[in-house]
Amino acid sequence: MIIQLKENISAKQKEALIQEVHEIGYKITEVKTQLGDYLIGIGKKEFDIRKIGQKEGIEDIHIVSDEYKLVSKKWKVKPTSIDLGDEVCIKDGDMAIIAGPCSIESEEQIRKVVAHLKENGIRMMRGGVFKPRTSPYAFRGMGIDGLKLWYSIAKEEGIKIVTEVMQVSQIEEMYPYTDIYQVGARNTQNFNLLDELGKVDKAVMIKRGISGTIEELLQSAEYVFSGGNEKLILCERGIRTYEKASRNTLDLNAVPILKSKSHLPVIVDPSHGIGIREYVPQMALAGVMAGADGIIYETHEIPEKAYSDGQQTLDFSQSARLADWIRQTFAMRKTFELL
Ligand code: PEP
Ligand code: MN
Repeated sequence: MIIQLKENISAKQKEALIQEVHEIGYKITEVKTQLGDYLIGIGKKEFDIRKIGQKEGIEDIHIVSDEYKLVSKKWKVKPTSIDLGDEVCIKDGDMAIIAGPCSIESEEQIRKVVAHLKENGIRMMRGGVFKPRTSPYAFRGMGIDGLKLWYSIAKEEGIKIVTEVMQVSQIEEMYPYTDIYQVGARNTQNFNLLDELGKVDKAVMIKRGISGTIEELLQSAEYVFSGGNEKLILCERGIRTYEKASRNTLDLNAVPILKSKSHLPVIVDPSHGIGIREYVPQMALAGVMAGADGIIYETHEIPEKAYSDGQQTLDFSQSARLADWIRQTFAMRKTFELL
């Protein structure tokens, strides 16, 4: 059960409400987000919602039987929009495009990618400065100085920054230079990191864990939401299966399922999803048709020279074509929805 409290609820009213919920045998967790105060009741017993609903100080009340509550559509039917300012938004009924290199490498590289995005009307740039690498000897990113450099260039051009945070201590130092904190697939269940991102008033994009279920992804989002931050985006980036022919298995089933279970926007990452440059466009367009609210993909001037993930990275002409195709495919999807 979720109870949203009225802003002006008195201490006495709240106490009476908590008592009533305890009486039906439910355990209560109080949640304060940047947008509201909630009581989350966890229990199994059936009860008459009207009995609690008539108490004073309640803004809204719903029974949500899913393990995840606040991110569930049963709680909030209206889709969540992520407004990054300057008319850059990720929302239902729209198609966000986020493109950029796997890793931020140099000033020259940043400038080239930014110019490419501007030319193609793409307002959000991805790139890692803290890179989770399977081998400790691989390039592990330019760190915070790389992010500062990137920010100084991107800001001037009105480009928003999407970048991975790997640990709690990075959240604060990254804050002034980041528009969307990306939680990588290796950190989807780093619950301390998720808790701390709950305290931040900036958007968080959570990637699906390498072997994570859809339910586990939603539970990870629930951590951040219940920690206080409602600005969340879910990202399907492929999961590990027994299939070896592709880097991961992009689970496009997850898109309509996530959209039906949650009010949060859903983004598809075809680059990590299939891991093969040649097939990234197909999977991106399939993601659009599956109902995604956005696509995030990797691009670099010379993919063969990229410091990481070159094999799945598009060059600028492929990227320009894909951005155009994404928009066209989305326009076609919209006509289907109108039927
Ligand atoms: C990335 O976006 O470059 C990345 C490392 O993604 P993932 O966490 O999905 O592997
Ligand atoms: Mn990558």
